[in-house]
Amino acid sequence: MTEGKIIKISGPLVIAEGMREANMFDVVRVGRDRLIGEIIEMHGDRASIQVYEETAGLGRGDIVVSTDAPLSVELGPGLIRNIYDGIQRPLEKMRQVAGANITKGIDLPALDHDEKWDFVATAKMGDEVAAGDIIGYVDETDVIRHKIMVPPGISGKIAYLLSGKYNVTEKIGIIDSPDGTRHELTLMQKWPVRRARPYKEKLPPNVPMITGQRIIDLLFPIAMGGTACVPGPFGSGKTVVQHQLAKWSNVDLVVYIGCGERGNEMTDVLREFPEIIDPRTGKSLMERTVLIANTSDMPVAAREASIYTGITIAEYFRDMGLSVAVIADSTSRWAEALREMSGRLEEMPGDEGYPAYLTSRLAQFYERAGSVVCLGSDGREGALTAIGAVSPPGGDISEPVSQATLRIVKVFWGLDSSLAYRRHFPAINWLNSYSLYKDRLDPWYTENVNKSWTALSVEVSRLLQSESELDEIVKLVGVDALSPEDRLTLEVARSIREDFLQQNAFDETDSYASLDKQFALVELLFYFRDRAAEAIKRGCSIDKLADLPVREAIGRAKAIAEAEYKTVFADIRTRIDKELAAL
Ligand code: ADP
Ligand code: MG
Repeated sequence: MTEGKIIKISGPLVIAEGMREANMFDVVRVGRDRLIGEIIEMHGDRASIQVYEETAGLGRGDIVVSTDAPLSVELGPGLIRNIYDGIQRPLEKMRQVAGANITKGIDLPALDHDEKWDFVATAKMGDEVAAGDIIGYVDETDVIRHKIMVPPGISGKIAYLLSGKYNVTEKIGIIDSPDGTRHELTLMQKWPVRRARPYKEKLPPNVPMITGQRIIDLLFPIAMGGTACVPGPFGSGKTVVQHQLAKWSNVDLVVYIGCGERGNEMTDVLREFPEIIDPRTGKSLMERTVLIANTSDMPVAAREASIYTGITIAEYFRDMGLSVAVIADSTSRWAEALREMSGRLEEMPGDEGYPAYLTSRLAQFYERAGSVVCLGSDGREGALTAIGAVSPPGGDISEPVSQATLRIVKVFWGLDSSLAYRRHFPAINWLNSYSLYKDRLDPWYTENVNKSWTALSVEVSRLLQSESELDEIVKLVGVDALSPEDRLTLEVARSIREDFLQQNAFDETDSYASLDKQFALVELLFYFRDRAAEAIKRGCSIDKLADLPVREAIGRAKAIAEAEYKTVFADIRTRIDKELAAL
């Protein structure tokens, strides 16, 4: 055990000497209160330590003790429904034990070590097993069956394994390795957060994550196992988009990381998520959610660790063959923590004071996403999709965090303050957003939704593009100079924006749209366009077309319930025909 002495304290950074034997990234306990820290730099016998708790009260000469182990998380039953801080301390438990003002250096395990779980063994004595093999399960919540797996690095013959009631530290069985070592099995594994958990093989991103958000699914889809960012200025709707994804995406589990965006925002999450009924299960959303919360009153250093803690937990559930989404709000706050530590380490600053390794650290996070063949002999597949909000100051995405993120992620949902100001939500700018998965995913939509899905999606994009070009002309010469055909294009584009792209997160029905309904809605809008185009050919005036009473019904179409839209949309088509015939 290495023991050193503090020689310098600078905010969350502590420098200690006498640490020659310690290792980079080892967890240390600092001072009399045994504050939790992590070695982030070594120079000879000096260790630079990032301390995850308030350092006021520490002094030169105070003792630093290394635990000789890297920052790790506990993985096992009890993760779901829990709320952790950035280094996986259970917030509720801490409050119960220590009150509102969290005691420094508090030693509480991440998982409840007393709670007993019903373990059902599915492997048996004498079975040959390898890392990742599923040997049993615990029904952790009503919706998640928590598979118990042979930890990475272990294989051999099961000497014994028994179903029963266990807490996470009790021995459930033993594996004898060929080399003669015996491995005791428990319901829990430990894993260092800064290291990606192993899998067999990465798979190409061919299947979409379905979000029920029309602009995303139709125009800028994300793959299961893909990466996306949501940059936008304050108030543009980043948090609402991320909540929508957490709520509606067709994933098995969500790990939501609040990086201290705004103090009250995390409180909102803590209050709201348990109350949200998961539309897919009818239970509380928390039954399939793990929350990592860094409120703004927590030390910044813990934010830095939080995204690794979160993605490690997500990888563990992916290992079980589940599809998991990691949602981080906002990675800008994380990057600021990185910048602050870098400044205190007196490193050479890069762009706007961020360290030169900003991009590589961000990449280390997003690279852990992916669809994979999991470890284990059953060939099961799992997916980890990573979505990060970015809050560029003033909304200007030329700043370093946005730029670094854009170099890494494959989907860009750019939020626009002018759209948010006009209350066009989600304020995703359709002209500059993109998805690099689109070509790969289109075949899936074509096969599973409608053979015209791709064509329709291309047509919507083209129409919106034409609108922006026509807008330029209108600015110069006025709308009356346009041909009736072009004026119809403007009308229909407006309808696409208002009746399709705009989606109210707070409207019970509009909040989510199935892919079939999305498709039917665009088809309906194009039906109007095609009939109107014919009417124009017959000499109908565009103003009359724009004022048809049926337009109002079209505007309300998106808020028609899933069970009824087919009938209602058919009625609207009939009305379109009738009203146009009467012109
Ligand atoms: P940010 O996280 O970017 O600061 P928020 O996500 O908190 O912004 O959104 C700000 C406000 O915008 C919300 O409180 C809400 O009123 C409105 N808003 C954002 N997205 C939507 C949406 N899809 N539907 C309705 N209102 C929205
Ligand atoms: Mg926000």
